[in-house]
Amino acid sequence: MKDPNSALTKSSDANNKVSETQSNQNRFTRRRFLISATSAVALGIAGGMYWSGRWEYIVIHHSAGNFGNIEFLQKVHRQRQAGDPIDAIPYHFVIGNGNGMGLGEIASDWRKENNIWGAHVSGRNSERNFLGLGICMIGNFEKTPVKEQQYQALVRLCRKLMKQYNIPVENISGHGLTEGEMTLCPGKYFPMQRLISEIS
Ligand SMILES: [Zn+2]
Repeated sequence: MKDPNSALTKSSDANNKVSETQSNQNRFTRRRFLISATSAVALGIAGGMYWSGRWEYIVIHHSAGNFGNIEFLQKVHRQRQAGDPIDAIPYHFVIGNGNGMGLGEIASDWRKENNIWGAHVSGRNSERNFLGLGICMIGNFEKTPVKEQQYQALVRLCRKLMKQYNIPVENISGHGLTEGEMTLCPGKYFPMQRLISEIS
């Protein structure tokens, strides 16, 4: 005799089996998708961080203070850009003015060592952060002119980087002279035209 209950149980079991299999398949597909999405993101981040051939621009800055070196800029960066996941100065190079580091001395930290993107211009120019080398000249060139030795170190550095990464002169700008940026950096006494003509 047909037991309606047992039939119900059977059919319900069968249904359970089907839905279990389906959900296993779904889970598997979902997991595979998650893994590939995660590895794509991880690869993207790793590639984005350590992409050594990325450099297409140079942006020049001043530190806006008369004293500076890597440690000092690092402290300022931690205060002002606390959200930056990269705990390094926002620039790739610093050139000293003889106060905090040698006059014309060039230094960099692990941001440049690992060829990680910069954090030296606004979000309006994210390309120049992502693909641009930031050079910070210690000093406030709204108030004082650039010392010749410091300027000459910048010329040498720009020429070297332009050659190394094949950067054209039209991709070199002063921070505030970059379209979309609203800052006095690198200051009215910074000799941008002289620099451009000397590295062209
Ligand atoms: Zn700047």
